[in-house]
Amino acid sequence: MASERSRTITAIYPGSFDPVTNGHLDLIARGAKIFDKLIVAITRNLEKDPLFEIQERVEMLETVTFDWKNVEVDVFDGLLMDYARARNASVVLRGIRAVSDYEYELQMAMMNRKIEPHIETVFMLPGEAYSYLSSRLVKELARLNGLPKGLVPAAVEQRLRLKFG
Ligand code: ADP
Repeated sequence: MASERSRTITAIYPGSFDPVTNGHLDLIARGAKIFDKLIVAITRNLEKDPLFEIQERVEMLETVTFDWKNVEVDVFDGLLMDYARARNASVVLRGIRAVSDYEYELQMAMMNRKIEPHIETVFMLPGEAYSYLSSRLVKELARLNGLPKGLVPAAVEQRLRLKFG
């Protein structure tokens, strides 16, 4: 028992975060509550044409997660399971918004389990208010100057305004 209590559980929350939304933050808040350490890891190699450079995404995430002392922001290349092993993580955290997310997430989780059976994928549901929110929609709406209030942190709203005027 004592040895179990002293074990630190590190979880990785991987994604593009282009940009971070209040839905991501909702998941980070939930994850930070149950894991000892949560690493929000920006994938470098996924998106071909991102709106925000990696450094900008790091800065926004660092700003909005500043208050959580057990949350770290990082960037990774290559295979998620290699990165998780390197960081001694035993959990990958992912969000499921709707049934539409499920199929892709299931495929990824099962493939990751095949690559590394010792790492578990844990799914969490955001608050209902964020169940329809995606970075892609945020970018589309900001581009058209029609992004409703309350969907992204103020620091992100400011950067979007700088991008789209
Ligand atoms: P990816 O390109 O890996 O999907 P995203 O930044 O879009 O990167 O999402 C990262 C993770 O956060 C994914 O698990 C996604 O399902 C989850 N996610 C994205 N938006 C939300 C949201 N509004 N509520 C909960 N989870 C979300």
